[in-house]
Amino acid sequence: MIPRDHPRYESLITREKLVEGMKAGITAIEGLIAHGRGEAFDYILGEKTRDFALKAEKAATAMLLLAKNPVISVNGNTAVLVPKEIGELAKLVNAKVEVNVFHYSEERVRKIADYLSKFGISALFAGDAVLEGLSSSRRIVDKRGIYSADVVLVPLEDGDRCEILKRHGKKVIAIDLNPLSRTSRMADITIVDNITRAIAKMCEFAKDLRNLSKEELEKIVAGYDNKKILGEAIEGIIEYLENAKKLL
Ligand code: ATP
Ligand code: MG
Repeated sequence: MIPRDHPRYESLITREKLVEGMKAGITAIEGLIAHGRGEAFDYILGEKTRDFALKAEKAATAMLLLAKNPVISVNGNTAVLVPKEIGELAKLVNAKVEVNVFHYSEERVRKIADYLSKFGISALFAGDAVLEGLSSSRRIVDKRGIYSADVVLVPLEDGDRCEILKRHGKKVIAIDLNPLSRTSRMADITIVDNITRAIAKMCEFAKDLRNLSKEELEKIVAGYDNKKILGEAIEGIIEYLENAKKLL
């Protein structure tokens, strides 16, 4: 048991969820390493949702609301960290949820879908279509989901797939704590925030933005500049580190 008053309680609970997920065959061992990279960036971002993330979360939610066939792609880490929030966001923006993993096995995909079903999510995982041009298992998709989607939300993405999704004409929203990653630079909207905070924030935005007209939503998306946001994220890290140095 992790004591509630531990100064790093949130972070330790998150790690525990991933370890449990791994033991249950949902999270890949490699997922634990990927999380470590994310944590390191979160640390030097101050472990808070910053302004640049809020702007991206708002624009991303507007983009999902405008989409014809929005899909939320879920991997092993996302499934164990924010299943409830994913279910809520999917309902609010009327998106499908699809299981899509880098380390593929039919068994693992089924386990993730079973786990999500406990949270009221009926995830797609037919694996009946292929994203041409992609060599990793991420290429295996569902015809009704990512294959035919116009907007895809890809938390914790690998750069390769992001590139291919773009080449297939899709709009890509990434959640990645690393503003320097290929994924971050390739996506249309990059949310530099921890997934443990980002999806819940998007749910809050969705509740408000749902009431806006198509034109108002389009204005939000048109006013968004991903390069500028990534620049602000990098500035945010620099600022955090400079302050930390001053406090020595
Ligand atoms: P590239 O995008 O440059 O190809 P990569 O795909 O090799 O990078 P991975 O380590 O495979 O990078 O992907 C994991 C990414 O997910 C990392 O960039 C990490 O910052 C991010 N990440 C991990 N855990 C979280 C989390 N909880 N919330 C947000 N982002 C996270
Ligand atoms: Mg990446």
